[in-house]
Amino acid sequence: MSDTQTETRKSGQEMEVQFLKGVGPKLAMMLRKVGIETVGDVLFYFPRRYEDRTKLPPLFQLSPGEAQTVRGRLLNVSSRPTRGGKVLIRAILDDGSGQVGLIWFNQPWVGRELQKIEGEIIAYGTVKHGQNRMLEISSPEWEPVEDDDDEEQFARLMPVYPLKEGVPQWLIRKAAKSAIEYFSRDIEDPLPVQVLKEEHLRDLKWCLRQMHLPDSERDQFEARKRLVFEEFLYLQLAQQMRRREVKQEVGISFPISEIGSIEASDASLFVDSEAAKRDVWEQIHAMLPFDLTGAQKRVIGEIFEDMERSAPMNRLVQGDVGSGKTAVAACAMLASVRCGYQTALMAPTEILAEQHAYNLKKLFEPLGITVTLLVGKQTAAQKKKALQATASGEAQIAVGTHALIQDGVDFHKLGLVIVDEQHRFGVMQRLALRQKGVGNPDVLVMTATPIPRTMTMTLYGDLDLSVIDELPPGRKPIKTHWKRTQDRDKVYGTVRELIGQGRQAYFVCPLITESPKMEVQAAEDLHYRLSNEQYPDLNVGLLHGQLKPVEKEEIMEAFRRNELHILVSTVVIEVGVDVPNATVMVIEDANRFGLSQLHQLRGRVGRGEHQSFCILIADATTEEARERLEIMVETSNGFRIAEKDLEIRGPGDFAGTKQSGFLNLKLANLVDDGPMLEQARAAANRILDRDPGLLLTENEKMLSEVRKQRSQEALVVVS
Ligand code: ADP
Ligand code: MG
Repeated sequence: MSDTQTETRKSGQEMEVQFLKGVGPKLAMMLRKVGIETVGDVLFYFPRRYEDRTKLPPLFQLSPGEAQTVRGRLLNVSSRPTRGGKVLIRAILDDGSGQVGLIWFNQPWVGRELQKIEGEIIAYGTVKHGQNRMLEISSPEWEPVEDDDDEEQFARLMPVYPLKEGVPQWLIRKAAKSAIEYFSRDIEDPLPVQVLKEEHLRDLKWCLRQMHLPDSERDQFEARKRLVFEEFLYLQLAQQMRRREVKQEVGISFPISEIGSIEASDASLFVDSEAAKRDVWEQIHAMLPFDLTGAQKRVIGEIFEDMERSAPMNRLVQGDVGSGKTAVAACAMLASVRCGYQTALMAPTEILAEQHAYNLKKLFEPLGITVTLLVGKQTAAQKKKALQATASGEAQIAVGTHALIQDGVDFHKLGLVIVDEQHRFGVMQRLALRQKGVGNPDVLVMTATPIPRTMTMTLYGDLDLSVIDELPPGRKPIKTHWKRTQDRDKVYGTVRELIGQGRQAYFVCPLITESPKMEVQAAEDLHYRLSNEQYPDLNVGLLHGQLKPVEKEEIMEAFRRNELHILVSTVVIEVGVDVPNATVMVIEDANRFGLSQLHQLRGRVGRGEHQSFCILIADATTEEARERLEIMVETSNGFRIAEKDLEIRGPGDFAGTKQSGFLNLKLANLVDDGPMLEQARAAANRILDRDPGLLLTENEKMLSEVRKQRSQEALVVVS
């Protein structure tokens, strides 16, 4: 293709939308409200759904329960204030055969616009039983029927675009139609013909037309399929390229299998020279107070293989809550230290970093290995000491929050980086910590709760995956009950009984996302109620996010020592807290929590030999809340809960995806498009096998999309 052609194509798609037939400068201003500025923007502004208007039902045939499109004349548009001080708009739609009511709450502008309509309108929404035995549609989408364009409006599958106030449906339709008709010949397909053939996909020009002016549902489906594939493909290409690049770098080859023969490591690391004679598995066995599960051993084996290789490790460990990820991390740390390298563990919150430091000190200090903590809120003196210890190598293990990746933190010989994340860190934070190492340290990422496979593939597609798919033995499944608020007293009685048997309890207070202050208030209220009214004879502690780190640590310590019978807490205990004697958790207003949050919370119990309970107190306010609570009662399998969570909430809302801003998927949907994602991953690898750097001319447009993808990943920041 010649340069001049490229230029024409650019000016085609990059032409301002005001030059489209039937648009003009005024309408272009309106289109800007939905982010459309160029012809290319229009072409890629996709409909939300389609309406088959060739089959509109006469109104007398309407039945309640389904979303339907209706057409008729407006009678009687009225507007009146409601008791809550809002406005209710009510109109009757009539087509001669029957009538349906249309209502809008608190959208006064709709009333004003409806008043202006003389002819018919089209409305769409869910039909329900309404007042006076009439059927009704609440907050329908609607548009006037345009007489001059009648045939257009009814002869085909109509695209329905997402709108903002003041941007009419017909405008986007008009712009899209004109863009397709006048500019689609300029559309160049970024995907090479060979890829389209191999994947059985249609070309871009055809697909864009079918998205905006579909000939049939099947054609539109085909078109969407290809566009979804393309979105996934760039993501997968970016990740698979990174994955291949890392594998080509030269990192550290840890001589793990030589551990035990003194020469392999610096003998000065050992307080006890006998210890230095044992191989790594014997040392692990001696260090841990329990035997590893089969799954833990397998995953540690996979990690050791990576560590021994010279290519840097880039691995993700997934496992359900309580599956023992921390122990796996500790084994990798031990191996690193025994090979003479420092290791760093980065956690998403201070309380979790403190918890990890506490647990790791217990394991490592008896071996003469020093663990140091680095968090934001330490005093200057504490920080200075910690910084010195990491820089000199005196501390072999550093644990911290993202304070670890800040400037001024230096390591003597960092070889292994572990990131414990609740999908809270992005790619860049992992890279930043990696850069603190000597050469290319090994990187291990652990997720705190399971996430669905499609999420793993999109968020962590550049990592190798290990799954701990087994819980430690002897765990009795946690019994989960859902109780209404009226049964609260009975719940309190049950808790008292368990405490009488020597156990301890957590009470988690209602989640109040709007204001941390109110949340603390709620925690204080609950603490007051429990310690003064319910359990005046018991010791009740209170933990929330606004306490100083020392205060938090003191309270956790008292709870660990069983000096507190009950710990009242906000969600700060969601991650990592580990007190096996605590066997009952009461979650107040459980309907306010998300599923993965509930699962993570519940994971704080069921950690010891005694039967554990999780009691959810809630009156389900919505259908969605009921679903969440029921699934919690039904299963404790984190992978199943994660799938369900994604399904209920939709990917846009799924835990952590908001932070992962690079997931800018326009059409693709992680709930339904899993198979397409797998296809795209396989295709990405086939393409890279042929052309690892995407340097062939036919791949050049894919390369530029992949670059865009990467620059977006670079923008992801810790929230
Ligand atoms: P996760 O981080 O995966 O939620 P943890 O690493 O916190 O899980 O482990 C949960 C609990 O199980 C801890 O009390 C830990 O000491 C214990 N544990 C881990 N592995 C085993 C094992 N193989 N056998 C017995 N207990 C174990
Ligand atoms: Mg953990």
